[in-house]
Amino acid sequence: MPLKSLIRTIPHYPKQGIQFRDITTLLKDPVGFRMVIDAFAQHYANQPIDKIAGIEARGFIVGAALAYKLGVGFVPIRKSGKLPAETIGHDYALEYGADRVEIHTDAIAQGERVLLVDDLIATGGTAEASVALLQKLGSVVVGCAFVINLPDLGGSQRLADAGLVPYSLCEFE
Ligand code: 5GP
Repeated sequence: MPLKSLIRTIPHYPKQGIQFRDITTLLKDPVGFRMVIDAFAQHYANQPIDKIAGIEARGFIVGAALAYKLGVGFVPIRKSGKLPAETIGHDYALEYGADRVEIHTDAIAQGERVLLVDDLIATGGTAEASVALLQKLGSVVVGCAFVINLPDLGGSQRLADAGLVPYSLCEFE
């Protein structure tokens, strides 16, 4: 069963004109979920990684399972005001408005090699802001892994142009 066929598309969610790619149908399928984690684990098998950083909220699901599989620690990157200890934040622009991601200041030690994980990359704004946080803490971002890439929105290209290394398991137009 190809992974892509397990992803459900919800038209006009969360607003008119958006085709939302819903991974809950992939996650509830035991074979599909395992395929995702195994594919990432295989891809990064020969790359030294100290930690996985997952982006709220779906990046937690995939990132935590991958961290377990690779035998490394997991660090959450969260939306504003959700983390209890001392944080640093990074603001970024959305199509309409702005958003902010935060990380605990003690989440990562200087020089640690970190893999960023999220479910989907669209414009790349969320991933870029997350990379900025990781770099502020002195980590080396060794790659950015996504289940889904929407290449038409340019995010994966933006990351590649910035010298980051995006990797995704499937694409939607
Ligand atoms: P970007 O910042 O690259 O424009 O948007 C990516 C972020 O928005 C990710 O954190 C992702 O979870 C969320 N996102 C945007 N569109 C979709 C979608 O169609 N499906 C899912 N599952 N997440 C989306």
